Amino acid sequence: MKLGILGGTFDPIHLGHLRSAEEIGQHLALEKVYLIPSSLPPHKAEIPVTPFHHRLAMTRLGTHCSRLLETTDLEGNRPGFSYSIETLQELHQVFGPGQDLFFIVGMDAFLEIKTWRNYKNLFDYAHFVILSRAGCRNFGLEAIFSDLHIRGSETGSGKIFVAPSGKSITLITSTPMEISSTNIRNMVKEGRSIHFLVPETVRAYIIEKGLYLNDDPHGKSKIMPCNHSRKKGR
Ligand code: ATP
Repeated sequence: MKLGILGGTFDPIHLGHLRSAEEIGQHLALEKVYLIPSSLPPHKAEIPVTPFHHRLAMTRLGTHCSRLLETTDLEGNRPGFSYSIETLQELHQVFGPGQDLFFIVGMDAFLEIKTWRNYKNLFDYAHFVILSRAGCRNFGLEAIFSDLHIRGSETGSGKIFVAPSGKSITLITSTPMEISSTNIRNMVKEGRSIHFLVPETVRAYIIEKGLYLNDDPHGKSKIMPCNHSRKKGR
């Protein structure tokens, strides 16, 4: 079975996340794509993030209408920061080594991979699918591939990349949708419409719960690093 994983802060989930996950799932013939909201995102430790239960609820609302997409609260059950390596290890255990996991990540996030915990070991557990995002160039990608000993080779249907573990790395472009959660939060704060940027159910949830209205919202919690030696990363 081939399963996709898309982790994110999802603060809030938007149509860019959902459309990309759906397209990649279909393109790679994945059985399911699991969206995994990060409970305590380590790379956003210095900025306020909406409490996990709201982000989880919105992600569930977003994936509800697709048979391919599903939300899991895997990271909500783990204490401390939500490191991708731990999520992959847990999924590897849950599904067993016979499953092919495809870790989907935006180019912007992948270009910071050297800040992720145990980044070299990530490729022991999953194939990677790197998604081009509107406005994000891939400057630095070659150096990262070289550091990770990822080799590219030409095939009849294009270039494929393989890590020393044998896991593949695929570069994909989905329908470009220049949407970001940051912009959505700012638009709500400024009283502007977010129609057609998020699913209607998510928009209704944001209004009902009064999310993103100001910088110190009922609902937001400042997440602080547990020790000062911790490095930024996922
Ligand atoms: P923020 O603006 O708060 O940083 P974001 O919109 O980038 O949030 P995240 O939850 O951080 O959303 O993203 C989760 C994953 O989805 C990341 O791998 C990111 O690169 C990818 N992603 C985010 N927005 C888009 C988009 N519009 N199209 C494709 N991929 C996206």
